[in-house]
Amino acid sequence: ETAANVPIRNICCIGAGYVGGPTAAVIALHNPHVRVTVVDRDQKRIDAWNGRHLPIHEPGLVDVVRLARDGSSEGRRASSDQAEAGAMDGASRIIGTVVESARMPNLFFSTACVETIGQADMCLISVNTPTKLRGVGSGRATDMAAFEGACRDIAIHAKAGTILVEKSTVPCKTGQLIKDIMEAHRPGVVFPILSNPEFLSEGTAVRDLMHPDRVVIGCESTISGHRAAAALANLYATWVPRSRIAPINIWSSELCKLAANAMLAQRISSINSISAICERTGADVSEIAKSVGMDPRIGPQFLKAGLGFGGSCFRKDIASLTYLSESIGLPEVAAYWQQVLTMNDFQRDRFARHVIATLNNSLRGKKITILGYAFKKNTGDARESPALDVLRILLEEGPRRISIYDPLCSVSDIKRELTVLEAEYAACMPDGPIEIVSDPYVACTDSNAVLVLTDWDMFKNTKPIAALSKPVAMPETYDGTTGTTPNDILHVNLHMEQLAINKP
Ligand code: NAD
Repeated sequence: ETAANVPIRNICCIGAGYVGGPTAAVIALHNPHVRVTVVDRDQKRIDAWNGRHLPIHEPGLVDVVRLARDGSSEGRRASSDQAEAGAMDGASRIIGTVVESARMPNLFFSTACVETIGQADMCLISVNTPTKLRGVGSGRATDMAAFEGACRDIAIHAKAGTILVEKSTVPCKTGQLIKDIMEAHRPGVVFPILSNPEFLSEGTAVRDLMHPDRVVIGCESTISGHRAAAALANLYATWVPRSRIAPINIWSSELCKLAANAMLAQRISSINSISAICERTGADVSEIAKSVGMDPRIGPQFLKAGLGFGGSCFRKDIASLTYLSESIGLPEVAAYWQQVLTMNDFQRDRFARHVIATLNNSLRGKKITILGYAFKKNTGDARESPALDVLRILLEEGPRRISIYDPLCSVSDIKRELTVLEAEYAACMPDGPIEIVSDPYVACTDSNAVLVLTDWDMFKNTKPIAALSKPVAMPETYDGTTGTTPNDILHVNLHMEQLAINKP
């Protein structure tokens, strides 16, 4: 008999990151009788989850965490009437019409990985699975070191029958890898394995978790597999309609996450490829996106031309898909998806080169301002940010100063990546041209060009910034072939106002 037969009372979520923290918090919120403990090796991260300032920013997250982590002594009523009257706080607005009674804390954050795993009926594995940087498959294969480490900890310390859930995005057939690890450490013991990929987007994580389009649960077709899937489905069914909970084959489940991200990224690369044609022809990519998106077979989502996709997922998941395709003897499929990445790089490169060309082909002695450093709005996450790629190209031209402002990215987040760049460029620029500024107006003062690299709402109106920047002469070589004129430089290139200023 396995734990899948008994109700789940104790959940251990391994990895307190962008996925593990919010997912565990929402599961705990809706399952007040289940004890949910999120463990991580990173003491600082765990301290932050236990403190007042959570380590990640997501609208509504603070309220959800407070409710589940701290409990409430009195009932909390959240009715839609109150929501409309604006009388509700963030949590209630997001929780919607949940009527809460007094509750005990049931969400915990801890570094006691071993003990927590040992008590769990179910382990959610939410650790990082980045692209492998060295060795075989470097740059494309998934680095499974953290994932394997978590599996080994489970294999050694978990109770027999504990249900293991892949929440991390992993290559297809990872279920088999887990099984092999379990078998090596605990031969003959059954650990049901589920794949439950997470589809949340940063910036809307709580909303996505509260109202998921679908909850995919992949299981093996064995009795224990089906029981385990039913146990996980029951946890979700406390707030997600059953019709949205899809039990499927475990390999389909693993692959569907990569497929979903690849297809979303593909739409961005598709519209970006059209934007390049627009610039040569005088067509307007936003008009095209609007009209193409009105076709119900296509739809309007993810059709905004811009600097391309960033973040920790799209690139690595497509890289993983291409690596998988190649390793199973499908080079044509690999080449197809690789092109989505190539297009993304092309877009960033084109943009940065356009900035340089507009500034008379030289950045020497000039100041450039970068507004926005997060990979998209409403998150402080700067991983794989378009800004970093643009910055890298601009730095090659030896600017006097690059001032960066982002409303949410912490200076330490920005610095972590910049130290790599600064070290790279230290030889040619001993004083280091990059500064991180906490006031957007200071960042823009006397700037030769202001680049809006994250679509934060606060940057939509670029007029006040324009007033602070210096006039710059147009390049003498300007020949009009880029489809822009000096006066509409504000709308140049990507039709996104990303090159906000270069006052003629
Ligand atoms: P993250 O880097 O923010 O968090 C992962 C955490 O796991 C880190 O805090 C790390 O210290 C911890 N960790 C690693 N190994 C551990 C171990 N053995 N024991 C305890 N803790 C350990 O990563 P993330 O952004 O939350 O992503 C996690 C997974 O979810 C990845 O596979 C990612 O592809 C996937 N995913 C991410 C998103 C997203 O928007 N970030 C969305 C969907 C899926």
